[in-house]
Amino acid sequence: MPNAKQDIARLREEIERHDRLYYVEGRTEISDPAYDALFTQLKALEAEHPELVTPDSPTQRVGGEPLDGFEHVAHAVPMLSIDNTYSPDELREFDGRVAKGLAGEAYEYLVDPKVDGVSASLRYEDGLLRLGATRGDGKTGDDITQNIKTIGAIPLRLHGRDWPEVVEVRGEVYWPRDRFDAYNKKREKEGVEPFANPRNATAGTLKSLDSAAIADRGLSFVAHGFGEIVGAAFETAAEMFQAFKRWGIPISTDAKVCKDIEAVIQFVERWDETRKAIGYETDGVVAKVNRLEQRDALGATSRYPRWCIAYKYAAQQAESVLRSVDFQVGKLGTITPRAVMDPVQLSGTTVRHASLHNFDQVERLDVRIGDTVVVEKAGEIIPQVVRVVTEKRPKGAKKIAPPKRCPVCRGDVTKDEGGVYVRCINPACEAQIKERLKYYCGRDQMDIEGAGDVLIDQLVDKGYVHQYADLYRLAEHRGEMLGDTPPDGLFEPSERKLDRMGEKSIDNLLAAIVRSKKQPLSRVLAALNIRHVGGASAELIAERFGTMQHIAEATVEALQEVDGVGPEMAESVRVFFDSAAGRETWEALYREDVNMTQPETRPRGARPLAGKTLVVTGTLEHFGRKEIEKLIKDLGGKTAGSVSKKTDYLVVGEKAGSKLDKAEKLGVTVLTEAEFIELTEDSE
Ligand SMILES: [Zn+2]
Repeated sequence: MPNAKQDIARLREEIERHDRLYYVEGRTEISDPAYDALFTQLKALEAEHPELVTPDSPTQRVGGEPLDGFEHVAHAVPMLSIDNTYSPDELREFDGRVAKGLAGEAYEYLVDPKVDGVSASLRYEDGLLRLGATRGDGKTGDDITQNIKTIGAIPLRLHGRDWPEVVEVRGEVYWPRDRFDAYNKKREKEGVEPFANPRNATAGTLKSLDSAAIADRGLSFVAHGFGEIVGAAFETAAEMFQAFKRWGIPISTDAKVCKDIEAVIQFVERWDETRKAIGYETDGVVAKVNRLEQRDALGATSRYPRWCIAYKYAAQQAESVLRSVDFQVGKLGTITPRAVMDPVQLSGTTVRHASLHNFDQVERLDVRIGDTVVVEKAGEIIPQVVRVVTEKRPKGAKKIAPPKRCPVCRGDVTKDEGGVYVRCINPACEAQIKERLKYYCGRDQMDIEGAGDVLIDQLVDKGYVHQYADLYRLAEHRGEMLGDTPPDGLFEPSERKLDRMGEKSIDNLLAAIVRSKKQPLSRVLAALNIRHVGGASAELIAERFGTMQHIAEATVEALQEVDGVGPEMAESVRVFFDSAAGRETWEALYREDVNMTQPETRPRGARPLAGKTLVVTGTLEHFGRKEIEKLIKDLGGKTAGSVSKKTDYLVVGEKAGSKLDKAEKLGVTVLTEAEFIELTEDSE
């Protein structure tokens, strides 16, 4: 026991050290797998010694039970907003007011980039994170501690010893670009619309009542100020920043002390270039009087502190005339309208196209063909239409109607909830087929080894595959793919030969395709890429209905009886199986002998060992050690390595040793192998 305690403490410190290196200093000393291994070790130890789990353990970041709602919390020190300026002259005016307020005293500024995120306040008491809160109206916010704890950049306990009794850290929760993109890819794979904008998605994430569901999003945090502090005094904000850094709280690595407002203006100009190359969105720079005493002397208006100003970079805008709208089909079939305009210069590039996002947006803007539109390039790389100059609208400007058919395949389209998106529902749509095939062959779906992105592009481009079922007829074209057999019809042999594919790789591919026919129904269902149906839901549905035929016939109500299937998902499953294309898709696979049944598993819910901890000792007659451990897990229980007061049952085989003695001493129920089998069968 003392060893476990020490090991746990050592692992936690090690993990926290690596977190600090990564989030505060921006470097790493170990590989991801090595970091994960530390984490796994800690988790295993804590599972064996649940009494040693504390709320500040790094393992506690995974999120907790969903909440019914958020508690309101009053901020000890209000969270004011910051006044904005848009020009160097406005900055100089601000500086004039500061100089006047300080009546000739010398002063300097602390500047740091304005991260485009969501404000949050973190309250540490005795070094432990006690409260994470939203800004709310500035006086009262929501208690979002559970969600805050899932953010790896935020320490659950402060590092070192010199932190004060109470410190409230104020800062910005934001979504780094790379993690945002990675998460969006995942959403697309699951058939969910990707998030449009990192800031709004961050706000939505922080408002989620289910912290466990957001733990993997990869949000980050950067501190820019403080609220209440008890038990410490700092002279300047720069000193405070240094302390944050020591305690393991990330601050901007670009923060800087500037001697005067001209130095601030220089920083602003330089940062405008730098900010485009960094991994998160910033829309300005904040300058604050550095000395805290001087801040107090300057005070605040009812809305803004007088010692602080934000410089915001203006979004680049230009006017042009909308000539037409074309429709683009995404890989999930989403049809997005795109403005085609007279060429116009914007942020140094010639722009002809701008995003209109969706048809809701088209209606909201009331944009028509022939209109003069204002396009803007802000954080986003793709310019967008932000408004119509209605005064310049010509007579007969034409309204824009959503397409009635898919512009690529002429297939049926459907409108989403609220009519925001229009979507092509033809699974054989060429615009979607490549991406769908890649997903179909993916490791978590049909797991066809060798069917990578480049190969699938070739298979589609060279006319071999139009729908999933075509994969299973590829063997018929082996000669053509190798360039040996002249093809029939319109193709030249060279047009049909696959690049960089020798005999061996083609045969391996064909074998992998044949093997995939045996995948369980759950994977086939997931591979069909039905909107909202990800791997986990597919498994639940497949287990409930057993065969594809049964799923195809299930009513929306019956589908919703499955745990975790909501109305949206049930509706989406129905739409797929009711559409001619959906039916043809799965029936074609069925004709190719792709397995359409789910192997029998223990019915869900029969978990007689739920919540129980078992220890197994001695040699068993009917089970290997791994086997019985798996069975216990399947039945809802967990196994531990040693007997303690928390053990519910000790299962004993031949030659049981000291564990049996200990169990008897502690009064733990002892089961023979036969009794164990009886216990698990009785309760079914
Ligand atoms: Zn289409």
